[in-house]
Amino acid sequence: MPVKPKRPCSKPGCRNLTEGRYCEDHAHLAEMSRKERHKRYDEQQRDKKAAAFYRSVEWERAREQALIRDHGLCQDCLLDQRITPAVPVDHIIPIRIRWDLRLTLSNLRSLCNWHHAIKTAADKRKYGGCYALKPTHINPQRKGDSE
Ligand SMILES: [Zn+2]
Ligand SMILES: [Zn+2]
Repeated sequence: MPVKPKRPCSKPGCRNLTEGRYCEDHAHLAEMSRKERHKRYDEQQRDKKAAAFYRSVEWERAREQALIRDHGLCQDCLLDQRITPAVPVDHIIPIRIRWDLRLTLSNLRSLCNWHHAIKTAADKRKYGGCYALKPTHINPQRKGDSE
């Protein structure tokens, strides 16, 4: 029987030899990256759920209702006294945050593409890690805020 060649542990700087990825001392690192993978899987599942929702008939209906209520016009442009046809209908509270409000008319707002992009960026700032696709890094500029 040929012996499986041992390779150095994957932990940078560790010189232990192992048959797996990590030596016994660093086996916990493999465990950690598995948790990390699991987290990423959860996020992907959530994205899939959201994507499926936006293709659903129930969303199409709720979206139509919002457009009718808003006369098919961007509500933010209206505030500036501009008449712009709305294309997307926005969730005021994103569905990642309040999945239960995904079809609630009062949580829907018709916006033009431009205002929708602004709103989406604001959501990312507001809701951070739980909203953004990737976990947001802590903004170093905000570090001094509490001091
Ligand atoms: Zn090691
Ligand atoms: Zn607009």
